[in-house]
Amino acid sequence: MTTKEKDLKYIMHTYGRYDVALKSAKGVTAYDENGKKYIDVSSGIGVNSLGYCNDGWVEAVSKQAGTIQHMSNYFYCSQASDLAEKLCTLTGLSKVCFGNSGAEANECAIKIARKYSFDKYGEGRNEIVTLNNSFHGRTVTTLAATGQDVFHNYFFPFTEGFKYADADDMDALKAVVSDKTCAVMLELIQGEGGVNILDPEYVKELVKYCNDNDILVIVDEVQTGVGRTGKLFAHQNYGILPDLMTVAKGLGGGLPIGVCMCGEKLKDVMSPSTHGTTFGANPVVCAGANYVLDTVANDEFLAEVEKKGQYFEDKLTKIDGVKSVRRMGLMIGIELEKGDAHDIAIKCVENGLLIITAKDLLRMLPPLVIDYNEIDEAINILEKTIKENN
Ligand SMILES: *Cc1c(COP(=O)(O)O)cnc(C)c1O
Repeated sequence: MTTKEKDLKYIMHTYGRYDVALKSAKGVTAYDENGKKYIDVSSGIGVNSLGYCNDGWVEAVSKQAGTIQHMSNYFYCSQASDLAEKLCTLTGLSKVCFGNSGAEANECAIKIARKYSFDKYGEGRNEIVTLNNSFHGRTVTTLAATGQDVFHNYFFPFTEGFKYADADDMDALKAVVSDKTCAVMLELIQGEGGVNILDPEYVKELVKYCNDNDILVIVDEVQTGVGRTGKLFAHQNYGILPDLMTVAKGLGGGLPIGVCMCGEKLKDVMSPSTHGTTFGANPVVCAGANYVLDTVANDEFLAEVEKKGQYFEDKLTKIDGVKSVRRMGLMIGIELEKGDAHDIAIKCVENGLLIITAKDLLRMLPPLVIDYNEIDEAINILEKTIKENN
C-alpha cells in the first residue's frame, strides 16, 4: 500500500489532506516521497518557526533526548524551569503552566479565570466572552469558546458559560458582559478566522474596560506568538499586557507544547492537583523551545521578521489577481479577486508551494528564517498559479 492508501484505510478522516506525502525537509524546503521539491510558506501551520530541522534546534533536542527524555511532573526539571524563566522575563508575566497543545493551554486559561473568580466572588461568576469568528481549539470546551456556529455541532452538550460578541465593537462586548462575566478571551489577529487584525484602539479600550471591572483578559497567542508578528508576542504590538496568555504552535519549533501564562494577580490561583498533564513540561520539548526562544527573542531577528513581511506584502500586492493583503510580521492573509482560495492552494502545492488557507483567503505563515530568495521563489510560484487560473 502507498502511504496515502494506508492513511485512508487506517487513519480517521478528520483532515482533508493535500495529495502529497512529505518525506524529508531542511530549512524552508520539503521533499515528497517522489523527490519533488516544495517551498513551504505554511510551517506546518506556524509550528516550524525556525524552518525544518534547524541545526541548533536538532542538536538541542537530540542532546536532551540522550540525557533524560522524560520525567514526571513530580520532579523538578531544569529545561522546564529555564523555559519558564525566559517566558516570564521576556513578557513581564509571572508564571507558566505547561501542556501539550494550544487547545489545552486555552483550557488551562479558562480554568484559571474561573477559579480566580470562584475564589474571590464565589459561585456563578463564570461566564467568558469570546469573539465571533475566533478559533480556540477542538476540545469540547474550546469548541464552545470558538465563536463560530459551524464548530457548535454534533458534540452536544458543549461546555456552558460562553457568550460571543463581534470583534472591534465595544458596544457589542458590553452588551454581553454581565455580573456573571469573569473573562474575555480573544486572538489579537484571528488566524483561522481569516487573518483579521483587531483594531488597536478597540483592544486598548477592551483591556481598560476589563481591568476596571476585574474581568480577566485572556489573549490567545497560540498562532500569533513567538515572533510571528514581528514582536515576540502580538500583544506587544498592541501595547497591552494580558492577565492570561496562551502560546503553543511556534514555541516548540516542531515539538508539541502549549503554555498558559499569567500575571501577578493570578500567580497563586492554581494549587496542587487543580491542573496537570503527563507530558507537560517534557524536557526534550522544552529543550527545543528554549532553543527557539533564544533565537527569536532578539531585536535584530524580530526586526528582520517585520522587514521580510513588508517585502512579502510589497510583492504580493503587485500580483495580478490579488485583491488585498492583511499582514502583521510574517502572518499573512491574501484576498483573491476571483477563484476559490482552497482550489488555488491545491494548485500551488502541485506547483511546488506549500500554502494554507483561512476562510476564503490564502494564508502564509512562513518559517521566520525564510530568506529573500526563498520569498521570491514562493511569490513566483503563487503568481504563476494565480495566472494559470485567471
Ligand atoms: C491552532 C490554534 C489553537 C489550537 O491549537 P492546537 O495545538 O491545535 O490545540 C488555538 N488557538 C489558536 C488561535 C490557534 O491558531
